Amino acid sequence: MAVRESGQGPVPAEGPDELRRLASDCVHCGFCLPACPTYQLWGEEMDSPRGRIHLITQILDGADGGSAASEHLDRCLGCMACVTACPSGVRYDRLIEAARGWTEEDPERPDAGPPFPRLPARSARERALRAAIFRLFPYPRRLRVAIAPLRAAQRARLDALISRGGLPDRLPPEIAAALRLAPQRTAAGRRARGALPERVPARGARRATVGMLTGCVQRVFFPQVNAATARVLAADGCDVIVPAGQGCCGALSLHGGRRAEAVRFARQTIETFERAGVDAVVVNVAGCGSAMKDYRDLLAGDPAWSERAAAMAAKVRDLSEFLAELGPAAPRHPLEMTATYHAACHLAHAQRITAQPRELLAAIPGLRLADIADAGTCCGSAGIYNLVQPEPARELGERKAAAVAATGADLLVSANPGCSMQIASALAARGTPMPTAHTAEVLDASIRGVGAREFRASLG
Ligand code: SF4
Ligand code: SF4
Repeated sequence: MAVRESGQGPVPAEGPDELRRLASDCVHCGFCLPACPTYQLWGEEMDSPRGRIHLITQILDGADGGSAASEHLDRCLGCMACVTACPSGVRYDRLIEAARGWTEEDPERPDAGPPFPRLPARSARERALRAAIFRLFPYPRRLRVAIAPLRAAQRARLDALISRGGLPDRLPPEIAAALRLAPQRTAAGRRARGALPERVPARGARRATVGMLTGCVQRVFFPQVNAATARVLAADGCDVIVPAGQGCCGALSLHGGRRAEAVRFARQTIETFERAGVDAVVVNVAGCGSAMKDYRDLLAGDPAWSERAAAMAAKVRDLSEFLAELGPAAPRHPLEMTATYHAACHLAHAQRITAQPRELLAAIPGLRLADIADAGTCCGSAGIYNLVQPEPARELGERKAAAVAATGADLLVSANPGCSMQIASALAARGTPMPTAHTAEVLDASIRGVGAREFRASLG
């Protein structure tokens, strides 16, 4: 383990020897290839997990991968379908996170120099786009200001006018993707605007005290999901602590190769939830939960933080995982609908949580579940992928939307805001729009007994 210095103490990073060891676990069997969405798209070895592992090894051994190497690595969604498909237990997740740092400009990372490889810089346009994303998305206040014009356009129905006029086709693909993806504010979203109270008391006898991460994109675009999460937890007997000062958990930075930035966010998040004194930290965003469970690895080797990071990681639970462990306390009322559940990659592959969300939904009287074909394949959202790689993301979104529409369901359920935006936008584009809800919102509607009609109306 090599150690680099940051302004706030040593930042551990996996060195070339450790990465070579991880890569050497690959026996080149190819079992992961059919699971890989980019291999499905292009059938190219270098756009498969096995090809990328080979590329990473070559670069570690000093090969000059050139800009083609950056492209193959950048085209990886980080969906981790290869990790669950691999019978040899290859930690591709750790390999790709390290390799992303070879091209990503992390402003908080001092020049690593040898022995860390550097790949050619991305184009000026790509660098500017990424810089804007990382300056905006982890900061809810900035994000709110930035999307204000978009919200105004949506209120004036200008977005529909712009789409009808074909403007998105004339815009740079990254901007067109952002316009296409931005969700409309729903009736439930308008009602949930404003911060949650710092403590939402348990209904009935208290069974647990939990902290709740409100997320960055989730907080700004889907406040109704956070409100529903707090209500469901309280109804099932939890005191819910929502620390007011919480910031970004670092997921976007970690998955984007900005390790030093991720470390800073992780330390802040650990301090925030330590102060809250909770039994568990409940997370309703798949990507955030996955990153927080990785705090142990992220801060391993940092003597001042390793134990605290491991203790925090052990407390992190996805909402569905936590509720399944806790068991229901509040009665579930009928919700006569057919729903289809999309398993977010960072829940199904990175956290290996597949059964719990389905079990929670299946326990709702009247709710029928329809399965999506090829459910383990990424929808193309993948953090910021649909903004920085809009074309493959669009193709994967179209495939997923076709599979979702084929279920004949009248509700799409997902546990990740990025997936919800991506699939909803692709469904609308193919003329088969479908209301979208988070697992928490479905459980909340059932517990409150609002009925299918009112619930559907709140999602519009
Ligand atoms: S993370 Fe996903 S896109 Fe990347 S190599 Fe693995 S399966 Fe393919
Ligand atoms: S990553 Fe795993 S499944 Fe894929 S080729 Fe290597 S050993 Fe086989």
